[in-house]
Amino acid sequence: MIRTAILSIVSLLALATPSPVLGDCTCAATKMKGGWCADCKVGHIASIKIESESLFEFLDAHGHHINPASIRCESCIAAIKVDGFCDRCGMGYVDRLAYVSTLTYSVAKGKQLDPSTIACRNCSEHAKSFGWCDVCKVGMIGNVAIRDKDNYREASQAMKKLLIANEMVKRCETCAVAIVANATCPKCKITYKNGKKIEPADP
Ligand SMILES: [Zn+2]
Ligand SMILES: [Zn+2]
Ligand SMILES: [Zn+2]
Ligand SMILES: [Zn+2]
Repeated sequence: MIRTAILSIVSLLALATPSPVLGDCTCAATKMKGGWCADCKVGHIASIKIESESLFEFLDAHGHHINPASIRCESCIAAIKVDGFCDRCGMGYVDRLAYVSTLTYSVAKGKQLDPSTIACRNCSEHAKSFGWCDVCKVGMIGNVAIRDKDNYREASQAMKKLLIANEMVKRCETCAVAIVANATCPKCKITYKNGKKIEPADP
């Protein structure tokens, strides 16, 4: 009896976490809704291609589960209730999942579109990177549509950094992560803020 129970738990786990099989390309789906393709070793966030696994992992595309009871920050507790963002902690919440970047938080809140179905020429051009369309009153962050202009503005800043980081991947992967994190690359000792190098003399 116990043995059957254990067996069925094992088979349930096997169903829940399909192990990546070689030749099992998931790009068609992950390009649309974000994710990492273990077969091609590329990730997508809002249809933007990311070729560094550490950069992709850092951005935390799918968010992570939190235990609301363990959260002490008042502003986080308030944010969880309204799918908001806590500026103090740099954490956003959507459907009780926590996101560590403005970009993935905004992408989780926005609406994923199939770029081939976008009728407006502006919007369809914006879907290749980002942009706000005054005709449709909608901002695109890759293939994700965001209607709130303030939210769009913050997400577009984060997207700008991601595009700069993407360029950096070929030269230094840890610099690429430092760019999106506003941090210092431990290898090159270069500090980045808002996608730009900070000279050591700067405050
Ligand atoms: Zn693939
Ligand atoms: Zn907080
Ligand atoms: Zn438009
Ligand atoms: Zn570096």
